[in-house]
Amino acid sequence: MHNRPKIIVFSGIDGSGKSTQLELLYNELFTNYRVFISKIEYMPLNDMNKSLIKNLLIEFKSGIEILKQTIGLYTKDNKFDYILCDRYLMCYLAYAYVYGIEPIELIRKMLFFIKNPDLTLYFDVDVDLALKRIQERDLELDRHENYASLIKAKEGYEKLYRCSGNLEIIDANKSVEEINNNVKDVLIRRKLITHLK
Ligand code: ADP
Repeated sequence: MHNRPKIIVFSGIDGSGKSTQLELLYNELFTNYRVFISKIEYMPLNDMNKSLIKNLLIEFKSGIEILKQTIGLYTKDNKFDYILCDRYLMCYLAYAYVYGIEPIELIRKMLFFIKNPDLTLYFDVDVDLALKRIQERDLELDRHENYASLIKAKEGYEKLYRCSGNLEIIDANKSVEEINNNVKDVLIRRKLITHLK
């Protein structure tokens, strides 16, 4: 197999099923391939715009998260066949848009060192359905998603997803199994995989 790992990005608003689909694909790949999972943690943007200092700290923390992921990707050559990314720069930019940060300016600052993914899967889900899934998943968590922020995040994604390489839009309103089959079809069609479990 090629020395450079194939980078597959799972993107979409919260509740679109990124983690679920990443795990399913991981389970199907890891018996035959060396697979690394790279996750950008939850974007801490909720306090954005409260003060200049806070903004700088939040941008700094987010920058570090993205840098950590990027450095991680650069150090995996020859060691892995696939890197499955739960969120990527584009996801941060989409959420940044929700909190009024100008994405183009951020892209200009960051894009020069970011690797272009071999495939970006965008899980396109209706906001009502995403919110229902999040509420069922995060019963005990004090998370900040609500209808308005998800609508805005989706708008952010739709504005930005074409910036990420090799985009495929997946209908994420379907069942877990149907989506998993669509993801596998895309991988086969794009010749990113030769055999699955
Ligand atoms: P994300 O990582 O995009 O936030 P998750 O994979 O955590 O989304 O999914 C959110 C919740 O919805 C989880 O509880 C998961 O079990 C459930 N879920 C994921 N995909 C589907 C689906 N296609 N149909 C119904 N429920 C789903």
